[in-house]
Amino acid sequence: MLTARLTNRLAEHKAARRDRHHRLRSLASQTRTRINGQDVVAFCSNDYLGLADNPRLVTALEEGGRRFGVGSGGSHLISGHTDAHRRLEDTLCELTGRSAVRLFSSGYQANLAAIAAFSERGDTVLHDRLNHASLLDGARLSGAKVTRYRHGDIDHLTHCLARDRPLLTVTDSVFSMEGDCAPLSAIAGHCRAHDSALMVDEAHAFGVIGDYGQGAVAEAGLTESDVAIVTGTLGKAFGTQGAFVAGSETVIEALTQFARPYIFTTGLSPALAWASCEAITIARTEGERRTHLKDLIAHFKRELPATLQARLLPSETPIQSLVIGDEADALAVGDALWEQGLLVGVIRPPTVPMGTARLRITLSSAHRHEDLDRLIDALSQCGMHKTCTEASV
Ligand code: PMP
Repeated sequence: MLTARLTNRLAEHKAARRDRHHRLRSLASQTRTRINGQDVVAFCSNDYLGLADNPRLVTALEEGGRRFGVGSGGSHLISGHTDAHRRLEDTLCELTGRSAVRLFSSGYQANLAAIAAFSERGDTVLHDRLNHASLLDGARLSGAKVTRYRHGDIDHLTHCLARDRPLLTVTDSVFSMEGDCAPLSAIAGHCRAHDSALMVDEAHAFGVIGDYGQGAVAEAGLTESDVAIVTGTLGKAFGTQGAFVAGSETVIEALTQFARPYIFTTGLSPALAWASCEAITIARTEGERRTHLKDLIAHFKRELPATLQARLLPSETPIQSLVIGDEADALAVGDALWEQGLLVGVIRPPTVPMGTARLRITLSSAHRHEDLDRLIDALSQCGMHKTCTEASV
C-alpha cells in the first residue's frame, strides 16, 4: 500500500514539474567547478566568502580530526562535547555579542530546536510571511499557533502584535529567496512595546553583513535585550557546516534542557567545530573578501540590462533574484544558461509564492568580474525579455 501511494505521489509531483534532482559536483570549488562532468561557473552556492575550499580550513579540519576525532560519538549532553566545541561556542559568543551559545549540526535543526524549546501549545509565534521553512516547522513541532505578517510590512506587524499577542516574533535578517533585509530596528522596537520576544535568523547575514561579518543584528546595534534569540548557520558564508543559537544564559540553558533536537542527536563533528573557529577568524579578519563581494554585487546590478533590472528584486546582498513568474519559463531559462556552462538556482513554488518562480543568483567573493559578465551576456541572450515582460513580480 505504501509503495503504491508513494508511486502516485511521485508521479503527481513529476507531472507538476516539482521534482528536484542531485547534481554531482566533482571539484572542491563552489564557483568554477565541474558538475555532472561539465565545466561550469556556478552562481547557486551560499559560500559567499569563498571559504568552503580554503586551504587553511582544510588544514584546521585535519588538525581538529587528529586532536578530537572526526565524529563526536554521542550527544552533546552525554559524551559528544569537546574542547573544540567549547572553543567554537566562545568564538561565537564574541562574534554575536551574546552571553551564551549552543551548537547544532545544521541551521534547520537549530531553528527547529529554538522555536520548539521556547514555545508550547497555547502560545502564538508570529512570523514574517517569507521566513525560512525551518522556522515555521519549529512551531509545528511545539504545537504553538503560527500567524504571519506581510513580508517586511511594519504596519501589518504591529496589527498582528496587538491582535495575536505572540510570545515570540520571528524573522530572517536576510531573506533567503529574496536577498532583502528585514527592518530589524523597527521590528525590535514594536516587539518590545508589545512584550514579544524577538528571534532573528541570521543564516545569510553572518560573515556578510557588518565590517567584521558580525551580522545584521549587531550591525543595527541591537543587543540581547532587543533580540532575545539569534540563530546562524556555519554552512553558508563561513564555509563549513553546523549552526548555533545565541542568547542570554537563561535562554540558552532552557534550550539545553528542553530542545529535543539538541538532546536526542549526535553532536556536531569536533573536527568541523575546530575548522569553523578558523573560518570565523578568516571571515572576521579578511575584510577584503567582503569588499570584493560588495563590488561584485554593485557590478551585477549596474551592468544588467534595464529590462532585466526591472525584474530584479531589491537586494544589496549576494542573493540576487530575478523573477520570471511562470515555472516553465524559469526552468527554460535555467536550462539555457546550463547549456552555456552557467548554473543558477531555479526556484519554484512551493519554496516561493505562486507566480513568482525565479532565478536565484548568488554571488561569492570567489567570483571574478568576468564570471558576472558571462552570466549577464547569457541572461541577455536567452529570451528573458519576452518572459520578463509577461512576468508579475
Ligand atoms: N535559515 C535560513 C534563512 C536558510 O536559508 C537556511 C538554509 N537554506 C537555514 C536556516 C538552514 O541552514 P542549514 O543549511 O545550516 O540547515
